[in-house]
Amino acid sequence: MPEGPEVEYTLRTLKELEGKKIKSIDLTEISQKYNKYKGRQDEFTGFSKSILSKIERHGKFLIWIFNNNEVILNHLGMSGKWIISSKSEDNLEIKHAKVIIVIEDSQTSAIFDDARNFGQFRKFGNYEMVMRYSPIRRLGLDGLKLPFPILDFQKALKQSKNLKKAIGRVLLDQTIVAGIGNIYKSESLFRAKINPLRTVKSLKSKETEVLGKAISEILQKAVQSMGSTIHTYRNPYGEEGSAQKWHEVYGKAGKLCKVCGTEITRIVQEKRSTFYCGKCQL
Ligand SMILES: [Zn+2]
Repeated sequence: MPEGPEVEYTLRTLKELEGKKIKSIDLTEISQKYNKYKGRQDEFTGFSKSILSKIERHGKFLIWIFNNNEVILNHLGMSGKWIISSKSEDNLEIKHAKVIIVIEDSQTSAIFDDARNFGQFRKFGNYEMVMRYSPIRRLGLDGLKLPFPILDFQKALKQSKNLKKAIGRVLLDQTIVAGIGNIYKSESLFRAKINPLRTVKSLKSKETEVLGKAISEILQKAVQSMGSTIHTYRNPYGEEGSAQKWHEVYGKAGKLCKVCGTEITRIVQEKRSTFYCGKCQL
């Protein structure tokens, strides 16, 4: 699943579309098989001739802002990706295209391809409405913010609802740190040498400080690597990320820890895999 760094890299490449006039936003024929798109083409007719003013990232969401005041909330889900295409015949080869944004007076279009269909592409009447939408309103601090707000991170962890929970579960909670998912959670805990099963309550202030720094370093490094390509992620030019090449624990169950030689362990937290070294991470 694309996490904050993959969405951030996607955003940076999509920014070339800012300031461009929209010819049309088309829901594809395939998209009409799914309820979340079915019969909704009319909602997007108002975007013709509008200008795409800006795209913002909020956690793992992208918010597309247009000069007609309407806004689109977009989430890549499990396998969604944007493809910037400069030739119309390319579009025919994209099997799971759900949405095509056609740019006026050019051959360029942006195609939302979502094989597993967990993504979102929803219109909101204006920016304030999308800010009030609960998954956006409740987002915690942005894990990619620089400098990383360590004190806010420590304060968010200390909320009573978190104290008895394992840190490996709490880090997936987007209301604490937005943008972390499974991969970077495991990698950050490894870097901070903290066992994912530790309760938040048991973590000393120094440990949460080290963890905050580790999260920031890992997420920044991942953006610089254009994200991780485990299965499907590609940036809008079709390029794979390379962060998977430096993963220390994610996806490495049974392999040996590069630091101490102990086998990496896989456990399940919040129905998601967590990978760690039982010797390095205490
Ligand atoms: Zn180790």
